[in-house]
Amino acid sequence: MRPARALIDLGALQDNYLLARRLGGGKAVAVIKADAYGHGAVRCARALEPIADAFGVACIEEALELRQAGIRAPILLLEGFLEADELPLIDRHRLWTVLASPWQLDALARYRPAAPLQVWLKLDSGMHRLGLSPDDFARALQQLSADPRIASIVAMSHLARADELDSDFTDIQRAVFEAATRDFHGPTSLGNSPALLGWPGIRSDWVRPGLMLYGASPFPLEAPIRHVLRPVMQLESRLIAVRALAAGEAVGYGARFTAPVPMRIGVVALGYADGYPQLAPNGTPVVVDGVTTRLVGRVSMDMLTVDITELPQAGVGSQVVLWGPQPLPTPSQIAQACGTSGYALLCGIKRVRREYLGAAGAATIGQTASASLPG
Ligand SMILES: *Cc1c(COP(=O)(O)O)cnc(C)c1O
Repeated sequence: MRPARALIDLGALQDNYLLARRLGGGKAVAVIKADAYGHGAVRCARALEPIADAFGVACIEEALELRQAGIRAPILLLEGFLEADELPLIDRHRLWTVLASPWQLDALARYRPAAPLQVWLKLDSGMHRLGLSPDDFARALQQLSADPRIASIVAMSHLARADELDSDFTDIQRAVFEAATRDFHGPTSLGNSPALLGWPGIRSDWVRPGLMLYGASPFPLEAPIRHVLRPVMQLESRLIAVRALAAGEAVGYGARFTAPVPMRIGVVALGYADGYPQLAPNGTPVVVDGVTTRLVGRVSMDMLTVDITELPQAGVGSQVVLWGPQPLPTPSQIAQACGTSGYALLCGIKRVRREYLGAAGAATIGQTASASLPG
């Protein structure tokens, strides 16, 4: 069996959710779109269902997957319906929908639901992606409030630059949102992971944490949060071959790394087809048998190569950890080293076998490797 696997710590996921909700001060939508950012939506939803107020997904397909797996909790379609003929499914499966475009309001006006719908009305407060203009928002708020087909309304908006702690754009967006909801007495929702972790002043009745549930930092630097979040995924594999290189010999495609001195190279069964970044540079940290060493050579589709010159005990079968909880390199650190984000890194994970570690009290990840970091 191929040794590449992602260990998913469901207890850490639960802890991170509870932290997010505490920081938000109200209720929290656990955002598990994109297959729970690569962690497996159904398993994550089952672990969170006893404690989560609601789940957030990107589209009806993701919502139906959860319903078919028996998830009964509220599910919010973060982009709303993408075609009007999804409305009967939203109705039948008791989904919550965002309304973010005038065409969605028109489609809803023509639809007769079996029971009143719960909707989240989205304001464009400055991101200029989805959401209604302040004028359309005010009009829709008034119309929907008087509409017997609508059970309840949450007023929401989304922040474009909350991961930039030195930008004033978050305060500008917040002011636009507050002005647009001043006369609205229902619940509000603002606040993704960077807002919850970096902007403690932002409170709303509902927050919508995604990335932080998985223990990764939404900031370029994770320093401020690495002690409060628990990384959920440990990505690992094993050495499947060992090579001795003479000085001047190169390894892998494009001969990107040439050994300056005689070296031992370990070949790891994990590559970019598993989601490891293809552009990871020479020197990206990799932990072999609990000791931090470095990637050398270009990452290939199914394999990557590491320097084990200083690890004479390492051989075929040695455990290799690509990322995990501290003191292992974290997903955020690897993302930064590879010029990508923790979001893209985690969402990209595929093909590797997922193994789930139980909720509270059970084993946690990070115990399999007692990593030592280089000085
Ligand atoms: C994805 C998403 C979130 C979660 O964002 P994170 O930065 O991962 O916390 C929140 N709200 C909306 C509308 C989203 O699309």
